[in-house]
Amino acid sequence: MLELEGIQKHYQRKRVLDAVSFSIHPGEIVGLIGMSGSGKSTLARCIVGLEQADAGRLLWNGKALTDRAVRKTCYQHIQMVFQDPRNSLNPTWTVRRSLLESCRQFQPAKSMNEYDRMLESLLESVGLDMDYLRRYPHELSTGQCQRVCLARSLAPEPKLLVLDECLSALDVSIQAQMIMLLQELHHNRQMSYLFISHDIAVVASLCQRVLVIQHGAIVEEAGVHELIHAPKHPYTRSLLADTP
Ligand code: ATP
Ligand code: MG
Repeated sequence: MLELEGIQKHYQRKRVLDAVSFSIHPGEIVGLIGMSGSGKSTLARCIVGLEQADAGRLLWNGKALTDRAVRKTCYQHIQMVFQDPRNSLNPTWTVRRSLLESCRQFQPAKSMNEYDRMLESLLESVGLDMDYLRRYPHELSTGQCQRVCLARSLAPEPKLLVLDECLSALDVSIQAQMIMLLQELHHNRQMSYLFISHDIAVVASLCQRVLVIQHGAIVEEAGVHELIHAPKHPYTRSLLADTP
């Protein structure tokens, strides 16, 4: 479904992504772990089109994402959820407006009744009721904000969600609820996730396969069980050793 071939990215002269190649198949949950500054968010931004890679190719179902026409349709199918939900929502918009704008952008020319039904179903799929529609972000807890961000990312009916540390700003108990929600959404919608996290325990509970990134290069790729019980690369071993 998504293929990366030799993706490189520099900021000024510093190489931040170094020939990154991997694939994500339909319905797969792939973890991406690495220390702070290793290039995880840069890679995520290149995948969703917020940054341009300097070299290499991104393919979506075999079509290069460098082609403008291809990008327009493909990027609808790749959505991202960020670490800080409060900064991801417009503080002057109600939940209704945030969700409606996303629905209108990706699914135009529907009637207001149809949009209302979409909003209801989006909220329901993230475990929030309709009362939340009139609230502003400051009237929501961080966990509720992240549910709204997740609902907004579902509006275009994505095939791949890139989740960049999307649980890091949440309490442990709320994290556990969100993991269950992500598992449920994955089961109901057969989406793929690229799940980026520092937290190896969370990665282990959610992901099937894990990529390890060091200084912008993928140094290990393995099934989650194999990675945790028989890590091959010294960097992976050091990451696991740092995990309580
Ligand atoms: P964290 O776990 O802390 O979120 P990360 O793995 O997501 O880290 P990135 O945010 O991708 O790391 O950053 C990788 C490197 O690129 C860092 O050295 C960072 O300082 C640098 N970097 C990121 N964005 C920019 C930018 N816009 N301009 C210059 N350098 C940048
Ligand atoms: Mg990051």
